[in-house]
Amino acid sequence: MQLLNAECDSLGTGTETTLSDIENVLQRKGWRGVFPPDMERIYERDLGKVRERAVRRALLPTLVIYNLLLITDIGLLPETARVATFLHFAVVTPGLIGLYILYFRLEGFLARQIAEAAIPVLICSQTLTVMALNDSPNAAHYQYFVPLILLFSNVNQRLEPRVANATTVAILAMYVGVLAFQNMEPVFKLAGLSFVVVAGYLGLSANLRAHRDARYAFLLRLREQVRLQAAEIDAMHDPLTGLGNRRYLAHFARTFPERDVASAILVDIDFFKAFNDFHGHGRGDDCIRMVAAVIDKAARASGGIGVRYGGEEFLMLLTGSDSASAQACAEAVRQEVETLALAHGRSTVSGCVTVSLGVATGLASKETFELLVSAADAALYAAKAGGRNRVEVAQAAVHGPAHQAPIPLRKASRRLQ
Ligand code: GH3
Ligand code: MG
Ligand code: MG
Repeated sequence: MQLLNAECDSLGTGTETTLSDIENVLQRKGWRGVFPPDMERIYERDLGKVRERAVRRALLPTLVIYNLLLITDIGLLPETARVATFLHFAVVTPGLIGLYILYFRLEGFLARQIAEAAIPVLICSQTLTVMALNDSPNAAHYQYFVPLILLFSNVNQRLEPRVANATTVAILAMYVGVLAFQNMEPVFKLAGLSFVVVAGYLGLSANLRAHRDARYAFLLRLREQVRLQAAEIDAMHDPLTGLGNRRYLAHFARTFPERDVASAILVDIDFFKAFNDFHGHGRGDDCIRMVAAVIDKAARASGGIGVRYGGEEFLMLLTGSDSASAQACAEAVRQEVETLALAHGRSTVSGCVTVSLGVATGLASKETFELLVSAADAALYAAKAGGRNRVEVAQAAVHGPAHQAPIPLRKASRRLQ
């Protein structure tokens, strides 16, 4: 089972998050979109990729819209047209491109969020600088760019709430600081302030809701992924013995390591039908479980895998093991089963449960996998015919076509343990 978990983990989410962790969060009353640290890491990793695409797509429209608004700047405040043009093209545009480059150089989720947050802050600094330098009554209209910037930050950029909050507070503080010294009718100041505060509040609450919805949808997706992964593990797992089954074997065969020797050992319990008939099915199941445990232990000790091949048949696959060591491993299994000393009232070869084993060794490759198993099967047949409770080795080694790429056999097999 441990083996299957490791294998399926490499196929699935690659996460340690369990179904109950996810259910716990989903069922939490008044959940505020907060994840336990493990889940948060997965979320940030997934979200990071989505955000990357969004940032890539947003650069050009941001630059175009921002610079088109220069026409309004100049029309509204012609006195500061030169400063505004200078700030647009010599400061903010290169600054935005610099932040874009920086964003893709940064690794951390939070660092990237801060780089994104710097975009509206930079645009707002330009707006407030032009406003501060201008005494014209039209500045009262110019201040309405600030709610737009807040909308861009909170609704378009959809920064994580903690970063969105900090960005909104920073923009508000800058705005209030400039407004305090602005030569403007108090009623316009009041109007501007209320627009900015309300836009900040509405933007932040929309941001928070979008953020919670995204996190909730992520949880549902993650739950499906974990359920699927559990079903995959289940489907490749024999419930009686805990070993992998034929489905797992098919999966393993597809990734069968190449260019090294490999051995297949087929193990079959002797006179098992008679055992069942005499001792009952329940004892038969116990016997299968105990033999399976011996096989599992021996396969692991040799850096291989053991699977339940059929009813009372097991297959051991040892990668990187030559014929002599495979034969030694098979003999150790035979002896270990004898040591279990499970009484067998209907065996003609012993008073206890015994096994017969067929061993075949060959060059490992996807093509030789089937050949190896059928050679081991032939050897098992010989062991049965030769009197049972014995190990037989296939006469000819199995060789498949040569392959170019050397595969790190031992490393691959250890990954599966
Ligand atoms: P041989 O020595 O030639 O292998 O004879 P055998 O009786 O072991 O072989 P045979 O194929 O005739 O019988 C295998 C038996 O294994 C038949 C089936 O009832 C039993 N069996 C298969 N799966 C299970 C299982 O999960 N539990 C139990 N208790 N018995 C099983
Ligand atoms: Mg049998
Ligand atoms: Mg059999």
